[in-house]
Amino acid sequence: MDEQLKHYCLMCPGPVNVSPRVLEAMVGCEIGHREEEFSQILCELRDNCLKVMGLSSDEYAVVCLTGSGSAGNEAVLCSAISATDSVLALYNGEFGRRLSEISSLYNPQTQYHEQPWGSKLDLAQVEALLASQHFDWVTMVHHETSTGELQPVEAVGALCKKYGAKLFVDAVSSFMADPLDISAANITMMTTSSGKAVGMVPGLALVVGKRREFERLSNFPARNYYLNLARHYKFHETLGQTPNTPAISLFVALNEALRIVVEEGVQERFKSQSHKVKRLRDGVRGLGLSLLHEDRDLSNAVSSICLPAGMSFEYLRTRLREQGYIVYGGKGPLQEKIFQVSTMGCIEDSDIDAFLAALELCLSARVTDKICC
Ligand SMILES: *Cc1c(COP(=O)(O)O)cnc(C)c1O
Repeated sequence: MDEQLKHYCLMCPGPVNVSPRVLEAMVGCEIGHREEEFSQILCELRDNCLKVMGLSSDEYAVVCLTGSGSAGNEAVLCSAISATDSVLALYNGEFGRRLSEISSLYNPQTQYHEQPWGSKLDLAQVEALLASQHFDWVTMVHHETSTGELQPVEAVGALCKKYGAKLFVDAVSSFMADPLDISAANITMMTTSSGKAVGMVPGLALVVGKRREFERLSNFPARNYYLNLARHYKFHETLGQTPNTPAISLFVALNEALRIVVEEGVQERFKSQSHKVKRLRDGVRGLGLSLLHEDRDLSNAVSSICLPAGMSFEYLRTRLREQGYIVYGGKGPLQEKIFQVSTMGCIEDSDIDAFLAALELCLSARVTDKICC
């Protein structure tokens, strides 16, 4: 294979390594999207998606869009939320901030509540805001990927219920890594994507929401053509199709990835994610490194690790890449403070152990070779 395209162990917070079974499903099909075969795949994919989330198809529905996770977020923010709705965007990291940025493009009445990145979301402040004026919608992320911390979605959902707001949650990087009870958390719309913990390549976004909310969408004037949820929902429901040419092979492969979760069992998947992340974190601590915010509700998907004193991210990234491992650096205020390692996707215990050995080599090379970094 072309040296440029060699296989890396993707320990970055997306994309992730994919199982051979999913890869085979992706390349093994040539079907048309206006054919019965595609409708069957789409139908099974939507059913499996609800199944793994423990939701009933009477109450909830799924739309699958060609595009990365942001396409799902933009679809909700431009078409489930109407132009006259007021929106409160809560954030304490990059991905929550992006929701507020997209919302501001479509919804003039978007206000945001920003807290320092990585600080615990202050529920008293959130409640004070909700009590001070009526908001139609609240937006937040479940797993703030940029810090690795889970956000108190259930508590915010309870506040939304109390003050009559709808809740939109970006669960892109927590879906199939950390449990989220959509119904108990009073979530109206939720998004995720193919390229994270479900274990598929990037390219598809899933929007899950209350069926009656999807049914109302066609009442709003369209503000975006390609990402208009009303169009997608209508095509899915009435024809078992998508309005435009979808990434057909990705639909087939995502369906296969969901089949695998259904076969394994959802609880087993969460257990395996939590086992892998513990193995990584124990190993990292064993090397004398520390995690950002040990005392928080950390996700099963991504670990934020403090950069060793005196080591630049670029040095660490390059040395790890030479050994076949891809990691990412910190964003915004966390740049040059942390690096991020994911344990999502098709990663075995042996990969984690080998990664830790590679990391140890980086740490010792710096000492013995006096490499300037
Ligand atoms: C990865 C991710 C997204 C989507 O990013 P894309 O670049 O569109 O794939 C959105 N939200 C969160 C929390 C994410 O981790």
